[in-house]
Amino acid sequence: PLVLGIETSCDETGVGLVRGHTLLADAIASSVEQHARFGGVVPEVASRAHLEAMTPTVERALADAGVSFNDVDAFAVTAGPGLPGALMVGVAAAKAYALSLGKPLYGVNHLAAHVCVDQLEHGPLPKPCVAMLVSGGHSSLLLVPDVASDVRSLGSTVDDAAGEAFDKVARVLDLGFPGGPVIDRMARDGDPAAIAFPRGKYNDGTYDFSFSGLKTAVARWVEARERAGEPVPVADVAASFQEAVVDVLTQKALKVCKDNGVHDLLIGGGVAANSRLRALAAERCEAAGVRLRVPRPKLCTDNGAMVAALGAELVSSDLPPSDLEVPADSSLPIETVTL
Ligand code: ATP
Ligand code: MG
Ligand code: FE
Repeated sequence: PLVLGIETSCDETGVGLVRGHTLLADAIASSVEQHARFGGVVPEVASRAHLEAMTPTVERALADAGVSFNDVDAFAVTAGPGLPGALMVGVAAAKAYALSLGKPLYGVNHLAAHVCVDQLEHGPLPKPCVAMLVSGGHSSLLLVPDVASDVRSLGSTVDDAAGEAFDKVARVLDLGFPGGPVIDRMARDGDPAAIAFPRGKYNDGTYDFSFSGLKTAVARWVEARERAGEPVPVADVAASFQEAVVDVLTQKALKVCKDNGVHDLLIGGGVAANSRLRALAAERCEAAGVRLRVPRPKLCTDNGAMVAALGAELVSSDLPPSDLEVPADSSLPIETVTL
């Protein structure tokens, strides 16, 4: 079956087309430039941009895949979590398409979609696998017996998300928004061992993370330099900060694998695009005998293909579609894959 997926939880209007595990189109319109001068996503601006981008992005995805509306067998849409007004635009559009074409609609969890998207690149997910979801709003360790129906949270951040820490540190360093990609780039010319930044909750026995202490430590370090009238070694700060984040992430992810006897680790979400996270995870997984799966960077950040991928998984698992009254739920819990 051909599934069209719609994503509007944040600032990307994404429309993907998927058949089984095959990606046919992945069209994206982003309002990120409209938010950059505010240093973060402005919800009203995002909702309006989704409204304007929705129809053209759907049409572009259909054209890219060389199919028409009538070829679509099912629609999937991000029902949550995310910005309420932004989610509502996607959910309303998906309902209108499904109703007018008489096709089933699946309201899906954005976070499960970040996990499921890897099937488009590396085939069916092993059952079970461990998934580490690291994005702008979430940092969680999950045990995933079945991405269509059984996702269990083992731990998550107690304060900032990993991507949020990247964005805040980028602001401290005047590097603009979003911070992840630019810190990743700057860090290539820096020394990851230059500054010993704190690693929150490193050996505390939990599967939780904490990044706000690290963010504050970076801000204090930079302020002290500026007060002393000394130049800030931006590349070294970026590299040392990034190393602290990816060290904790990979250490905890492998602890979950070991404690649960699972030999497959998947990393998803926007921060999974980080080059140092990908490299250190590969190194540590190799040493631990764990198989690592990370989607290509374009599939890690928000997109419509991931929503279509999860929709296709629900269809092939024979799960019932959603009611046409399905709500947008801005705080949808990670365990609720579809509603
Ligand atoms: P959520 O998925 O939790 O709802 P979101 O949808 O806003 O949040 P994503 O698009 O999945 O998040 O990820 C965006 C985040 O990923 C931003 O915080 C951004 O800085 C971060 N990010 C993107 N690329 C990189 C990178 N190369 N290195 C580190 N962080 C990155
Ligand atoms: Mg985004
Ligand atoms: Fe996301």
